[in-house]
Amino acid sequence: CGIVGVLGDHEVAPIMVEALRRLEYRGYDSAGIATVNGGRLDRRRAVGKLVNLSDLLVHDPLPGKAGIGHTRWATHGAPTVANAHPHRAGRVAVVHNGIIENFRTLRADLVAQGAGFESDTDTETVAHLAQSFLDAGLSPREAAERTLDRLEGAFALLFLFEGEDDLMIAARRGSPLAVGHGEGEMYVGSDAIALAPLTHRITYLEEGDRAIVTRAGAAFFDAASRPVNREIRTIEIDA
Ligand code: GLU
Repeated sequence: CGIVGVLGDHEVAPIMVEALRRLEYRGYDSAGIATVNGGRLDRRRAVGKLVNLSDLLVHDPLPGKAGIGHTRWATHGAPTVANAHPHRAGRVAVVHNGIIENFRTLRADLVAQGAGFESDTDTETVAHLAQSFLDAGLSPREAAERTLDRLEGAFALLFLFEGEDDLMIAARRGSPLAVGHGEGEMYVGSDAIALAPLTHRITYLEEGDRAIVTRAGAAFFDAASRPVNREIRTIEIDA
């Protein structure tokens, strides 16, 4: 139910847990984060309150300066660790708000091609679909675009890729998403409240938008992957 992402200059796990805390007001049943550290993708997930995730991180830290995080409000699959986000397939990790309406068809196709699913969620389908495009030789960006082209439903999505320490790909269709601009750091959040301690400089994705985010900045594209200009606004919210 909440999404955050950070391409940082520091360790991002504590920053993401704090940003997720600021999204607690939306409600959730489980939480998780994934990072890329020296190219390696890894994740931690916990059922229940965010304190369960932060306790897990004390015992089993998750290093890395690039990461995505999620608070889940289950729509497909019970609130379990296996169903908690981020979902992963191969080199792809994804966090998602909303519902992928055509996930059953996509999942059946992917299973027929040999994909092994670990959860009951609609979301995991997105990770496997993107990985199938990487397997076909596409770049992370092309794989994300081709994946988004296949999805039906209302959602916000954020992708992170193994081997890519400086890339997040965000998409908005029906669920809000904001990109935050820092000093040599970039952020993504469900809203500006989540990002308020980090930056007040916010670009809201418009309906159908996709954003390619690196530490150097964000490039915005419409649903047909045409470049678009999206303004940076200064949003004053108390941190
Ligand atoms: N449909 C997804 C799930 O059930 C995402 C739910 C959410 O928006 O948190 O895992």
